[in-house]
Formats: sequence, C-alpha cells, structure tokens
Amino acid sequence: MRALTWHGKQDVRVEEVPRPEVVNPTDAVIEVTATAICGSDLHLYHGRVPSMREGDVLGHEPMGRVVEVGEDVETLEEGDRVVVPFTISCGACWFCEHDLYSLCDNSNPNAELARETMGHSPAGLFGYSHMLGGYAGGQAEYLRVPYADVGPVKIESDLTDEQVLFLSDIFPTGHMAAENADIDENDTVAVWGCGPVGQFAIQSADLLGADRVVAIDRVPERLEMAREHGDAVTIDYEDEDVYDRLMDLTGGRGPDSCIDAVGTDAHGTGVVATSDRVKQRLLLEDDRPTVLREAIRCCRKGGTLSVPGVYVGRADNFPVGPLMNKGITVKTGQTHVQRYLGPLLDQIESGNIDPSFVVTHDEPLERGPELYETFNDKEDDCIKVVLRP
Ligand SMILES: [Zn+2]
Ligand SMILES: [Zn+2]
Repeated sequence: MRALTWHGKQDVRVEEVPRPEVVNPTDAVIEVTATAICGSDLHLYHGRVPSMREGDVLGHEPMGRVVEVGEDVETLEEGDRVVVPFTISCGACWFCEHDLYSLCDNSNPNAELARETMGHSPAGLFGYSHMLGGYAGGQAEYLRVPYADVGPVKIESDLTDEQVLFLSDIFPTGHMAAENADIDENDTVAVWGCGPVGQFAIQSADLLGADRVVAIDRVPERLEMAREHGDAVTIDYEDEDVYDRLMDLTGGRGPDSCIDAVGTDAHGTGVVATSDRVKQRLLLEDDRPTVLREAIRCCRKGGTLSVPGVYVGRADNFPVGPLMNKGITVKTGQTHVQRYLGPLLDQIESGNIDPSFVVTHDEPLERGPELYETFNDKEDDCIKVVLRP
C-alpha cells in the first residue's frame, strides 16, 4: 500500500509499504478514507522528536472503513465507518479507568524508553516516534488499530468525512485545552496560536461560556478565521505588544486563562528567542518556550495556564518564579480523546459546530510531501490539510 513516510528533517516521501494486518485479537484494520496533517506532525518534520526512524509511517488523524477485525473485537464489524483517536488506550488500566486515556499504562510497547526520559510512559500514539510506541501512522491506505473496542468512534449518520475527521485529535484537543483553562462566565481567555488547535480552543472557550476570547498570532488568514468563526478579538504580535494590549483589554488585570496552542516551535522575537534558537542548534535546549514565558507574564494573578501545545524535552529561561509568585495553575497533557468523542460528536450532529471550517486543502495522499512543505511554510493560506489515500 502507499503511505507517507518519514526520512529525516523536511523529508517526507510517498512509499510502498506492507499493508497492515490484525496482529492481536483486539485489533482492527481500517481502509483510510481521509487523514489529516497535524501541527504536531511538523515537530516530526523538523526532526525535533527523538526516536523517529527512517521509513516510519506518519499520521495520527485518520478515519475510514473497517476491513478486518480480530476475534476478540466486540463493538466493530467489517464495513463500519469510524474515526480513530490519535491516542492508543487499552481501556482497562488504572489510567483508562480514570478517563486519563492519553496516559494509558499498557499501550506503549517501548514504555521503558519513555520511562528513562520522563519517569513514566504516557500512552502510545499513532505515527509519533518509537518512544511513544513505534506504531505506524494513518497517512496511508490502511491502518492497524490496536484496542479497537476502546478507540474508534462509529459514524452512523451521513455527516461528511471533513465534518467528523477532526474528532481524531484537533477538536477534542482544542476542547480539552478550553476545559483545562477553567473558564467561568465573564472570563477573558487569551489563546496563543491560531492554527487548527487554537481555532478549536477558541470555539470551545466560547461554548464553555467565556465572555471574551483574545487570539494571538501573526498569520493574517489565521487571525481572520479567529475573528470570523470564533468571534475573537485578535492581536498580531508583529504589530502590537501582546502584554500591553492584553492589559489594555483587561483593565491591567490580565486574562483569567491563557492557552498555549503553539508549543515547542514558537517563532518568538527578540534576544531570548534568538538565544533559544542557537541553543537548540547546539543541542543545549530542546524546546523554545516563548509562548509559555509570555503567557505566564500576561496571565492574571491566580489565573490558569492551559498547555495543549506539544513540548518535547527541556527548556531554558523558564519563569518558574513568576509562575509560583503569581499563583498560576498549569494544566496540560496529550488529549484524553476517548473521553470527548461521544459529547463532541453530539455537538456536530446537533449542528452546534461544523469542524470542517478549518479545512483549506483537500488533496490526494500523493501530494502529501509538498503539502507538508506548504503547511510548514504557511503558504497558500494553508491552515488544515486533509489527504485522501
Ligand atoms: Zn494531531
Ligand atoms: Zn490503559
């Protein structure tokens, strides 16, 4: 079958690879009908995620039709149309039983590798390095889905692929980011990053009752989308000082909640951001925490910082003193996607939200390599790419 494979920094290829089969009795195999490129795939594209190997199949935002099920699979059968969460979860461990699916204790066969780095291993993820399981990803014609009774959500209505595909990651991720922001009525919520996750965080903050959402980015079409679809006040950080503007908007108090939907590859400006880039090149620093620094500086005292943006290792100049002295609560983590599938599918089916608004490119899988480049460079007004295998 054809798949998009990783070959190092900025080198994604379309290759012929073996078609996956059922390995364990709880597996299913799906024929992928639509699959998306995620902002977090760009961290792989930049070669920033450790333990990737040449030829790894990319992708963690797939949906399709079930073509094969293992003998212990109870909830799915051939022909079912499903969206598959990016988190692989067993459904039976202590973490899964506590709805902490992205922290599943059983789904990462390379847990030891993760434990050495982090102290404990989070869940395995599709197409996201060997430290996180070494699972083949979903930017391919077929995908093996472990624990098939736990992850995939069946789509039984006639919603289009683009309307439901983002249940796999970015809609639940934006939603959990807003939930983690502990939003009350009358709150001002500031969202750094107006990529797809940021857009869904903005939408969800609104659904959760925020009085006002302020969206921060520098890409005009992304700011435009935040205004148009999320009713957000926007700040272009290349034109305005983010701190000053946020203080103006909140009478000097600062936003009640801050959401970092950017993560490790923040652009940033100024001396500290330049020093991050240099240290990163010298392998003295893993992450560029520009947004974390700014959010901690801007957040109101006693406010909440929610971090859906992906970080990979260690960061310097982290303002731990301000964080502590301002009494800021931090909530973060990979998304517990399975927790949100039912409620968010209901939101889509009832017409409260149509997630397809983020799609700017819908193309055959073969165009994957060039679309990685387009998405990375934010060219051609690219916000979200859907690929058709
Ligand atoms: Zn994703
Ligand atoms: Zn588990």
